[in-house]
Amino acid sequence: MVLYKGPRLLDFAKTPQYLQFNKYVLTGYRPVSTAKDCLRSLFYMHNELGNIYTHGIPFFLFLVLLPLSIPWMEVDSAWICVVHYVACLCPTVGSVVYHVFMNHVGGEHVYDTLLSLDMFGVCLVNTLGALPIIHITLLCYPATRQTALLVYIVLSAYSIYCATTARTNVLRLQAFIWQALFRFGLFLFRVLGSGVGSPNSLRLFVIMDTLAVVGGLINIIQIPERFIPGLFDNWGNSHQIMHVMVICSIIYLHWGTLEDLAWIRTYQCPTEG
Ligand SMILES: [Zn+2]
Repeated sequence: MVLYKGPRLLDFAKTPQYLQFNKYVLTGYRPVSTAKDCLRSLFYMHNELGNIYTHGIPFFLFLVLLPLSIPWMEVDSAWICVVHYVACLCPTVGSVVYHVFMNHVGGEHVYDTLLSLDMFGVCLVNTLGALPIIHITLLCYPATRQTALLVYIVLSAYSIYCATTARTNVLRLQAFIWQALFRFGLFLFRVLGSGVGSPNSLRLFVIMDTLAVVGGLINIIQIPERFIPGLFDNWGNSHQIMHVMVICSIIYLHWGTLEDLAWIRTYQCPTEG
């Protein structure tokens, strides 16, 4: 994409140290820039362009298309639809802002703040995305459901703290473990216990979590660029693969939640006695 002739790009060694997080991406670094010049970088080729558009384009598609498929009027608890919609949008917003402005003249302080914002978006899809799943799984146990929602929110607050203050990709991925284990417990309760939900949604939620975890691992091990450093500088590197897997994961969350919302309309909890 060359709509605008950008500045001279830098090699890995010439970029500020806090931007040297992938030693296998050798070229295409934007110089430190003003906010205006960061925005101009949307229109010329550099090594963050793929990261910006792999979340920027899905953001606009989700913004417009998701409301068309969400059954706003057919669900008793309308908050579920709102929470789900916001959950699907959060990670792409934080990510685009981070990737566009990461080379801002404000330096490392601005970079760290933006990275925390990016992680906060990922935390929100984890947290908000799971609330409808908890609500539906424990539909017939209102008291337990209140407690579970409360526990999950406290757990999520801890995850948000860990993810936004973590200094390495490994620690960032670890921050999500407790939320993931909680969701896994819910899935088990649906399979083995008295949890309820559409018979089709569980498979979709398991695929959702698998895609997110595999994407996070690919980002940590920096494949494929570690095998041929320099070849994937602009396109096809591990971070972009993770971005695409995160988008697929959100789509599976959406499909699973739609299944549950369609199912909940006709389900009656068994009455005692
Ligand atoms: Zn990213």
